[in-house]
Amino acid sequence: MSTDWITLGRPRLGSDEQAAVAGVLRSEWLTMGEQVAAFEQGFAQVHGQTEAVAVNSCTAALHLAYEALGIGPGDEVVVPSLSFAATANGVLYCGATPVFADIGSLAAPWLGMEAVARCLTSRTKAVTVMHYAGFVADMERWRAFADEHGLLLLEDAAHSPAVPGVGTFSDASCFSFFSNKNMTTGEGGMILSPRPEILHRARLKRSHGMTKSTLERDRGHAYSYDIVELGYNYRLDELRAAIGLVQLRDIDSFNRRRAALDALYRAEITRRLPDLGLVFDRETPSSYHIMPVLLPEAAVRHAVMDTMREARVQTSIHYPPIHLFSYYVEKFGRTSLPNTELFASRELTLPLHPLMSDEDVGRVVGALAKALGR
Ligand SMILES: *Cc1c(COP(=O)(O)O)cnc(C)c1O
Repeated sequence: MSTDWITLGRPRLGSDEQAAVAGVLRSEWLTMGEQVAAFEQGFAQVHGQTEAVAVNSCTAALHLAYEALGIGPGDEVVVPSLSFAATANGVLYCGATPVFADIGSLAAPWLGMEAVARCLTSRTKAVTVMHYAGFVADMERWRAFADEHGLLLLEDAAHSPAVPGVGTFSDASCFSFFSNKNMTTGEGGMILSPRPEILHRARLKRSHGMTKSTLERDRGHAYSYDIVELGYNYRLDELRAAIGLVQLRDIDSFNRRRAALDALYRAEITRRLPDLGLVFDRETPSSYHIMPVLLPEAAVRHAVMDTMREARVQTSIHYPPIHLFSYYVEKFGRTSLPNTELFASRELTLPLHPLMSDEDVGRVVGALAKALGR
């Protein structure tokens, strides 16, 4: 039996990515050029759209999306607490207030629609749905809910690139290409929106609110520039975009391999550890970003994680709830989200990435069984 580390995630970076980066270096055009434009085009196409805005992280994408949609001081945005902090921080960057809502259930740990309904006030401007673990929430139902209540709808789609339906029904969706995501550029992000004016505004704000790009000026089409919005430097560079183009070519095969590993995990866990909780089901469209399980109530999670580490299997927790972090408690007080807190206290994330073998899944489940004293 192999004793190699089985890591939580692992990017597949091969000779094609290396050649793409070398090509950019040879070209000497390092940022916001043909690679970025092609990456935006390709990414939009994969999601059945015509346009996208590339940025240097999903955090930047969320900030720009919230701002482009006009969210600002006095507004409230309902967000999941069972997410990465960036989902809520983008709201804070705009001077608006994130309102944390509970998940619907332990078996389907998306934002709960009834929980969101209970959070609505006259100030609520938007709701942000996050496709936890890559499993795509029912966006048609969310669209109907948002329309009924006069809200903007956003997707934190950091976990779910290239899944049909993602980015179609919301006012803006934000993707991440951080190193541990399904496709990576090291750091990077993308915004999709079916509303061209939102993408236009995000594109302006990505680069200081300037009306002429460096490329256009370099080519001599413009003699000066104007600043028409408060903007930032959230640009993506050509090196990362070139890596992204290679990853984009392979994202469907990455996601298919993840799907196969998820199926194996479910079968192995059902057979060997039937008292473990599995999350979502195989009918829900997914990019299978992570493999979350719910430990039995009696299990001591940190001891399980230690024992698995000794067996050279890396594990993690998705997520420590945002509303319980000290910064947010100090700012908003101690709120209570019972389902989120219960889920987060029992959740364990197992390794899942396309470079894992079928045998690795057996080794992980074996290590987990041993850690649970079976
Ligand atoms: C990774 C992640 C982000 C942040 O992405 P960055 O590209 O690292 O800024 C936001 N939301 C979720 C749900 C994530 O998993």
